[in-house]
Amino acid sequence: MTRAEIRSQIRLRQSSIKDFMLCPKLFQYRHLDGIEAKTRSAKTLNGSVLHKLLYDLHNDDWDMDVKSAYLMAFAYYEYDSDESHIPVRFYKSREDDIRAFTATAVEIVDGYRRRSENKLSTMLFQEVQFRVRILGEMYEGTIDGLRQLPDRKIELFDFKSNAIRPNVHAVAADIQLNLYSYAARFGEFKVGDDWIKPRILTDYSSIYYLPAHKIRKRNSKLGQKGEEMGNPLIRTTKSIEDLRAFRKEVSNILKSMLRPWHYRNNSTACVFCQYTDLCQSQNPVVSNRMASKANELLAELGISN
Ligand code: SF4
Repeated sequence: MTRAEIRSQIRLRQSSIKDFMLCPKLFQYRHLDGIEAKTRSAKTLNGSVLHKLLYDLHNDDWDMDVKSAYLMAFAYYEYDSDESHIPVRFYKSREDDIRAFTATAVEIVDGYRRRSENKLSTMLFQEVQFRVRILGEMYEGTIDGLRQLPDRKIELFDFKSNAIRPNVHAVAADIQLNLYSYAARFGEFKVGDDWIKPRILTDYSSIYYLPAHKIRKRNSKLGQKGEEMGNPLIRTTKSIEDLRAFRKEVSNILKSMLRPWHYRNNSTACVFCQYTDLCQSQNPVVSNRMASKANELLAELGISN
């Protein structure tokens, strides 16, 4: 595939950039070869459900019953969404996983509601689509939220529910967050049927780390039993100069994406990857025995190559 062919085939969405940054091979399978994943991770569904609950909280359902709302939303993503034909890969069992996810979601949503700043802030945009042109290329995506805090500062945020809390340096360099901040200042948001230009230079560009609301189950040197795990907000600031520098960065990433060689970034990403079987069975450094183990697991799940 030539660079021109790759460019004509991909949309520059935050998700395609994120996939490329995670693993170029995964990006190739999903966005260039158009291969549909054979399984979905239960943790991915859990992340989607948490996003939905937080959206609903701010849209007239602040006092929701979290347990029943969680179960309904999970059933929607499992059985009625666009990807419901793809089987879900649970970790222990469906029942055990959903029970654990629900218990954690109750802690997270309760913690979110307890934080007065979350209730007192004005949500300006939530789950808003954006588009922005950078050095001649149009980038698109969806921003989790943009809010005005009680002290009138403007905060753009992205909810994260990963197991590992990002540190402030990772957040400062986060490509997605930089793209959102750039779009808020220089791009357009879709509101109803219209595209508007918000022209907002945010005071904070933040990751809202949801698992920080989980409750400690025992005393440790990090905190006491019954306390929340920590502060959910990891805040950074972006100046106009930072945003201008970001243009060059994103255009360099695009150049890498268009190279017709997508290497395997074997890493912890492989644990959650939906293409592990395909990838490892095509990988000359993985023995047939290891590749067939992955295929056996798929057979157990009733899925074959
Ligand atoms: S299994 Fe690992 S190396 Fe292969 S595509 Fe997935 S993330 Fe990349």
